[in-house]
Amino acid sequence: MRTRFAPSPTGLLHVGGLRTALFNYLIAKKTGGTFILRIEDTDQEREEDGALENILSTLNWAGISPDEGVVLKDGKITELGDYGPYTQSNRLDIYKKYVKELVDNGHAYLAFDTKEELDQMREQEQKAGNPSPKYDYSIRMRMCNSLTLSSDEVSERLKKNTPHVIRLKTPEGRKIQAQDIIRGKVEFQSHTIDDAVLLKSDGFPTYHLANVVDDHLMEIDLVIRGEEWLPSLPKHILLYEAFGWKAPEFAHVPLLMNQGGGKLSKRQGDVSASIYSDKGYLPGVMINFLALLGWNPGTTEEIFTMSELIEKFSLDRIQKAGAVFDTEKLDWLQGQWIRRMTVIEFADLIRPIVAEKYPDANNDDNFLSRAGLIQERITFFNEAPEMFSYIYERPSIDKKLIANKKQKVTLDIVPKILSVIIEDLNCLGGGELDWNLENLKTTLFALAESKGYKNGQILWPMRAILTGLPYSPGAFEVAEILGREETLDRLKEAQKAF
Ligand code: GLU
Repeated sequence: MRTRFAPSPTGLLHVGGLRTALFNYLIAKKTGGTFILRIEDTDQEREEDGALENILSTLNWAGISPDEGVVLKDGKITELGDYGPYTQSNRLDIYKKYVKELVDNGHAYLAFDTKEELDQMREQEQKAGNPSPKYDYSIRMRMCNSLTLSSDEVSERLKKNTPHVIRLKTPEGRKIQAQDIIRGKVEFQSHTIDDAVLLKSDGFPTYHLANVVDDHLMEIDLVIRGEEWLPSLPKHILLYEAFGWKAPEFAHVPLLMNQGGGKLSKRQGDVSASIYSDKGYLPGVMINFLALLGWNPGTTEEIFTMSELIEKFSLDRIQKAGAVFDTEKLDWLQGQWIRRMTVIEFADLIRPIVAEKYPDANNDDNFLSRAGLIQERITFFNEAPEMFSYIYERPSIDKKLIANKKQKVTLDIVPKILSVIIEDLNCLGGGELDWNLENLKTTLFALAESKGYKNGQILWPMRAILTGLPYSPGAFEVAEILGREETLDRLKEAQKAF
């Protein structure tokens, strides 16, 4: 199947847009088809610098590479494929040609109304009890257009370059029906539809015209897009009919909702997809998360790679109801993905990040086992340098951290505790007993018991002194990772501070 994602470069790519792109991509890949990226830049006023770059780089990050259309090649924006150009602002002549066809066969007409005339019409209509007036069949014959002017008058105006638009002549009293893959049969009454502008006075097409012409010329088989486009569907159906073209299939996917049930909007948090890459979410995690927004596999399984999604995804398992954008679930998925990596994969991913801050990580022979210690705890890779900080750098003594109510550690008992820990640990590693996790455990538990301390009274200050961090692996793990000499040095150093 040929599917397409057709964003307008009016801002950073929205998470909902990335999901739409993903669904289109999955269907194209599943059917051995082609995924096309078309840029719908016909609303030049709303265009934003950098938006196109953001769309392309975010898709690239997510692993959704277009087979055709506007693509990134060696970091440069270019176009690929036989149906181009794929940027609508480069197709203006095409739209003009097709809209002329509609005018010639009576499905569209030229309208010369000025802004003042349009305002006046609205005002009059409102006064007459029509709260939301629109330019439609009931009004068009009172306006200034090629249906009401003589052909000489029209030619005269065209000769004088009088600004005008071209409007769709929406039929009166028609039921417009379509089959939506997700919603089933959808029906619209033509009296609810205005005579939509197809070509603007600046020669640019509107979304409706450009979208339909391009989906036809680019031989799109299936249009998957957000539910917010459903109200446009009847206009599109009318256009396909007016051109005498077969419409593609349609699937309007449910809206993304915030936790409270409203439409996900900027005010509720981060709606730009690239923010999630900046924050350090793995692309695979984001894809996994977005796929589950509105779709389910029909099992309780929740972790999917892109290739598993390609295999399992199907439109008939997409729900109609809005899908809640739950960032806690996203964090949970990130955790799941990280825990499922092998330690080697994990270590390879975080080593360069840690080495940026601590170059020693590059020649650390123990890096793998050290990485293994944080794999269970980490959510974002950018937390790794901090989690490794105590390994490559001696922390300063933080008395506030060392004192701990819950563990019953007060600063006045710390000197005594330190000296007994040091005394007992001195016997490890040098002689019969190795310095390892097991022996550290046995020694320190025995110490607590023999001296009448709670385990926490021994382990908390030791861990806090060795790491300087509020959260880290436990005292035994840390002592093992640091080794005998470094551990004892740090504890002795701490003694001086008390
Ligand atoms: N340009 C529209 C958008 O920004 C495309 C909608 C459609 O897919 O038809 O989403």
